[in-house]
Amino acid sequence: MPGRVLVIEDEPGLVLALTDRLGSVGYDVDCATDGEAGLERALETNYDVIILDIMLPRKDGFEVCRDLRKKGVTSAILMLTARDRTSDKVVGLKLGADDYLTKPFESAELLARIEALLRRVPPAGSKTPDPYVFGDVEVRLKSAEVLRDGKPVKLSAREFKLLKHFVEHPSVVLSRNELLDAVWGYNFIPSTRTVDVHVAWLRHKLEPDQRHPRHIVTVHGLGYRFEP
Ligand code: CA
Repeated sequence: MPGRVLVIEDEPGLVLALTDRLGSVGYDVDCATDGEAGLERALETNYDVIILDIMLPRKDGFEVCRDLRKKGVTSAILMLTARDRTSDKVVGLKLGADDYLTKPFESAELLARIEALLRRVPPAGSKTPDPYVFGDVEVRLKSAEVLRDGKPVKLSAREFKLLKHFVEHPSVVLSRNELLDAVWGYNFIPSTRTVDVHVAWLRHKLEPDQRHPRHIVTVHGLGYRFEP
């Protein structure tokens, strides 16, 4: 599964190894060796996946991640660190990273994670129109804003990610496990009940009649289906 990958990492040996390995399986790889340069590159080009080290010169990985999400960059972000600290994982994921890998890691594991990210994130520049309109709702994918009847609707980051996944997969049944994997990632496996709670919140905010949902429909025994 080819894709564009940006590696933001300051260890020359690791940069070389990653570039070689990713290139050898067909990825188009760019790299940047400090946080500022990485941020610039990531804003210039639509990458499918950004591999982001935490300890970086000029701007650390947390700041880069936060700035990217603030600027509406939707590339999948995989954070790397030498420290296996739960607090780092929580901070990274809260700032909008999609996955996390602790150094040292096997290249096979990295490749598997990247493939998983590419499966769950639609390819950069995919066909979903932006803004995407259904009923009286307008979803601005790049800027992560949602309007209803022209008025802004406040959604949490998870609610927005869930809504985004729905609008990018219209008219197909999505199981709770698929939604968990796509929106929460396998580092956070709470329970499928979490999906139901977030769906209820989305319906409350976006459906004309939340008891008889027209857009986010329950498919009994299977999951949910988004109907534009
Ligand atoms: Ca580093």
